[in-house]
Amino acid sequence: MEGVNTDLETATDPDRHRHPARTLPRTTRRPERSAVVDLAAIRHNTRLLKGLAAPAELMAVVKADAYGHGAVAVARAALEAGADALGVAHVSEAIELRRHGIQAPLLAWLHTVDTDFGAAIGNDIALGVSGGEFEAIAEAARALGRTARVHLKVDTGLGRNGFTMQRWPAAVRAAASAQEAGTIAVVGIMTHLGAADEPQAPENEEQLAVFQRAVELAQEAGLSPSVCHVANTPGTFDAADMAEPRRMLRDMVRVGIGIYGISPFADRSAADLGLIPAMTLRTTVTNVKEVPAGQGVSYGFRYRTPEATTLALIPVGYADGVPRIATGGPVRIDGVSYAEVGRIAMDQIVVDLGRPGLAGEEGRNLLGAEAVLFGADENPSVREWSEAAQTIDYEIVTRISPRVTREYIDTGRDAADASGDGVEANWTIVLHPASAEETQRIARRLAAHLRPGDLMTLTGELGAGKTTFTQGLGAGLGVREGIISPTFVLVRQHPNDPEGPRPGGPMLVHVDAYRLATAAEIDDIDLEETLPASVTVVEWGTGKVEHLTDSRLEITIDRATGAGASDGGSALSAVLADLEAGSGDGADEPRTLTIRGIGPRWAGDAPRELLQ
Ligand SMILES: *Cc1c(COP(=O)(O)O)cnc(C)c1O
Repeated sequence: MEGVNTDLETATDPDRHRHPARTLPRTTRRPERSAVVDLAAIRHNTRLLKGLAAPAELMAVVKADAYGHGAVAVARAALEAGADALGVAHVSEAIELRRHGIQAPLLAWLHTVDTDFGAAIGNDIALGVSGGEFEAIAEAARALGRTARVHLKVDTGLGRNGFTMQRWPAAVRAAASAQEAGTIAVVGIMTHLGAADEPQAPENEEQLAVFQRAVELAQEAGLSPSVCHVANTPGTFDAADMAEPRRMLRDMVRVGIGIYGISPFADRSAADLGLIPAMTLRTTVTNVKEVPAGQGVSYGFRYRTPEATTLALIPVGYADGVPRIATGGPVRIDGVSYAEVGRIAMDQIVVDLGRPGLAGEEGRNLLGAEAVLFGADENPSVREWSEAAQTIDYEIVTRISPRVTREYIDTGRDAADASGDGVEANWTIVLHPASAEETQRIARRLAAHLRPGDLMTLTGELGAGKTTFTQGLGAGLGVREGIISPTFVLVRQHPNDPEGPRPGGPMLVHVDAYRLATAAEIDDIDLEETLPASVTVVEWGTGKVEHLTDSRLEITIDRATGAGASDGGSALSAVLADLEAGSGDGADEPRTLTIRGIGPRWAGDAPRELLQ
């Protein structure tokens, strides 16, 4: 390990920080502190949201430097994953994207008397129009001899920007005559929701109703906007539980926070929604010291060590965007999470490692160890910091300051989004059954869409509820014989029950491919024989059965975070839970159920309505 460190070693050697004396000074350095953004997470989240919105288009909102993630890199990743347009607040933000060669449709919606509308029109940036700027935009268009593309914004109740409904009829009339004069083209109508993160709030329905009225009035005034849009990230998720999801999703959704892998809901985590947090805020431990009991820590001595202990100094503070008001925010050092103690200072925070002896020569010397404030997977979450600071996740990531280097990585972890043969799904549905019963209900409804020749792959750890799901399919298809976990048999055939709900329907073929390593071994069990006349569900079939037909549903069941089945300790009880599906330990913990439709059989709309 002596000598020149390559970038690769620096980035990937997990033991690197255990020997700080040997790796410092390094010839190739990482940034001293960085917000590392995984572009694969951005792509994954974009695809997931687009799947929820389809066939509505997706506008990726990259205002405020993409909520602190870096607008140019995020915009490119989102466009790569299928975003149809980009949204920002300021014209200057939109121009910055154009300067970097981004040619996608762009919309900016928050202007001042000093906004350069001429530059916006010249750069083909569509403009949100909420009131007073109307004349200035028309003027700038006239001066340029061009047409400004605008989205009229109506205030449906939020009380911020947008025409009030009182002024709306006059506004659409004025817009119609400006359109006739050729100075503007009304391409869209938009509004913004005030409580979409509270799906039960009555204001959501009220705002949607006002919006519908506003669209009708615009049409009566002779406008024919092609893109009406309402939903932000929470609205896009809310739609799945609404009687008429299209009222929310309309022609396009404008999603920001979800793209970054963060949940907008107080009661649902990113993992609950199937999102992957894109940003990791990390640095390294810069000082480790032994202190006695009673040692004061940081300004005001608001913390005193209760016992003799070791303190670690972390070189980020409020100048880097860590909120000073926070108390007890987590920092993960060398795989262990600690709570920050004492006042957060401009440049630094302190962690009490909880016991003495950690700064010694023997034992682990944590000087130089990686320190992560938040990130994906096993790292602390943004949510822990927003709770420590009594704010929302949006603010935590957005306020990370320019002093923190943005680093871009591509973990490729979104490869799982594309199926085994690299084919992209037509649509993705993400559901959150709260109980085994609900999982079965979803499967029963899905069964109504199934016909002979349909193939499903079903993936999820032991105890996740794969058998529960298959039982629901069997019930919906009306097949004979109780369905049990196929753990000890490879294939089971369940013929149609003529007395059941779907007499004459297809039989269900239930396969466990867990111990079948390859497609060749699958061929040995002759699924090709039964496939055309039956509905086939293959547990652990991903990567093994794709060659059988050009279309399939990929179904994944994940236990919610913290469900505890994956820590290995309870493999046996998990098997039992699977065997006695619905009654086993943890069977009623919430799950994330993801259904992806692949191939011509599943082209077109997701059967979302039928899955509610
Ligand atoms: C910021 C913003 C959005 C995105 O909201 P998220 O909750 O981050 O998805 C959408 N529309 C408007 C008008 C916005 O200002």
